[in-house]
Amino acid sequence: MPPLFACSSCGVQIERSTRSYLQHRGRVLCSTCLDRLEAAGDAPTGPAGESNPAPQPGPG
Ligand SMILES: [Zn+2]
Repeated sequence: MPPLFACSSCGVQIERSTRSYLQHRGRVLCSTCLDRLEAAGDAPTGPAGESNPAPQPGPG
């Protein structure tokens, strides 16, 4: 029986292997939070929001 860990997002108790727990440095997510992250399109940079950078004003 795998040990129980608390989801890093919602805190629910989930079963995860110690190997997986160590791989994620103690950050484990339950299936619900994983689905939410995938649905939201987990972006590695900054919060959600499309803001295209303005073109640099220069000669040309
Ligand atoms: Zn969760």
